[in-house]
Amino acid sequence: MNILTNHLPTAELQRIDAAHHMHPFTGGAELAAKGTRVITRADGVMLTDSDGHEILDMMAGLWCVNIGYGRDELADAASRQMRELPYYNTFFQTSHVPVIALSQKLAELAPEPFNNTFFAASGSEANDTNIRLVRQYWAALGKPSKKVIISRTNAYHGSSMGSGSLGGMAHMHAQGGLPIENIVHIDQPHWWAEGAEMSPEEFGLLRARQLEQEIDALGEENVAAFIAEPIQGAGGVIIPPETYWPEIQRICDAREILLIADEVILGFGRTGKWFGSEYYGIRPDIMTIAKGLSSGYAPIGGSLVSDHVAEVIGRSDFNHGYTYSGHPVSCAVALENLRIIEEENLLGHVNDHAAPALAKAIESFADHPLIGEARSLGMLGALQFTPDKSRRVPFKAPKGTIGQIAREACFRNNIVMRHVGDRMIVSPPLILTEEHCEIFKERAGKALGETYATAK
Ligand code: PLP
Repeated sequence: MNILTNHLPTAELQRIDAAHHMHPFTGGAELAAKGTRVITRADGVMLTDSDGHEILDMMAGLWCVNIGYGRDELADAASRQMRELPYYNTFFQTSHVPVIALSQKLAELAPEPFNNTFFAASGSEANDTNIRLVRQYWAALGKPSKKVIISRTNAYHGSSMGSGSLGGMAHMHAQGGLPIENIVHIDQPHWWAEGAEMSPEEFGLLRARQLEQEIDALGEENVAAFIAEPIQGAGGVIIPPETYWPEIQRICDAREILLIADEVILGFGRTGKWFGSEYYGIRPDIMTIAKGLSSGYAPIGGSLVSDHVAEVIGRSDFNHGYTYSGHPVSCAVALENLRIIEEENLLGHVNDHAAPALAKAIESFADHPLIGEARSLGMLGALQFTPDKSRRVPFKAPKGTIGQIAREACFRNNIVMRHVGDRMIVSPPLILTEEHCEIFKERAGKALGETYATAK
């Protein structure tokens, strides 16, 4: 029987799923106890599940469906490309038209001096590429000892052995013996949780200067690069203090190290700019891209590489690549996605309508008794739970207890928000409107009410 065409009841789909499908970042016991929600369709900002519920997706899938669901143009682009050339590789002096066109388009959209892309199928793969790129860069310049990459605690850069090591997620490191060698972590700029009595500005400088101290401790001759998300996403939408990035940039300019900006979430419009680095005035040497590049309609990622790095890498063989580097169907879909973002002026929509509407909606929760911080920037938002609004303190219950209750209340109220510890986060499609924000306020308000009633 073809499950795709025979509409099985939800319970049966859940049973088969639990029996045969191993889920990412989900405990088996959790699945067995609660079952999965089976998503069957999506349009715009709304998902439909197998029971017919209409769910507001405030996470754009996994921070990726920038243009919203249901755009036939991308389906048509994929179908055309599959008929013409479904696959060919880009190894050994071969290329194809979609990858040539997408490379050119990215060079046009990215700030100077970004004119080169090394493609992958995901953000994790792209960050693995970055580890090799920066080490190869220094080796080619006759400085092979420059191998260490400095990252940050609570960063997320992917889930492969390399990218999971770059990330600073303790629960991920605890499994599988991570991090791999020559990756170290400094502290994150999370003022609400870790800033104690300091002002955000003082704290931002303090945390940025840890980079300088770490370079000194390791010896500059051993450090290849610093990697960071301009705004930490999976760590909890942590918007750094204003002093943080200028100080990081100053340190990177003064020291002989490369700067990698992980733009997997921010790239392609989430801050209202094409790249988060542009929002913060950062000048990285490499930018990781994925997610919004194809709005999640096809798997694709990559490393945008600045001219000076690409030139050095190009002097010798780069012994690296993936079967799906520059997959023609993904490239064709990405091109169509970028055309829509550009021609429909989605960045203008974000700046003039969607981000202000989201900010107003997020701020409307600021007075809620559970909420200690309500913040947004562009199309990212966070609501921090606290037992005491007057002090920035966590709950006594194990971290994440209240967040989990809230996430389940969101499920019941047909809204997708994610919890990171006791912080609820949103990252909706860029096409969000004021009407969507009204639905958000109503459903999230109910979910918060239910959470408060349980947490009290
Ligand atoms: N980098 C960042 C900042 C991310 O948020 C993610 C995924 O959430 C990744 C890298 C990994 O991307 P992928 O899941 O496509 O491998």
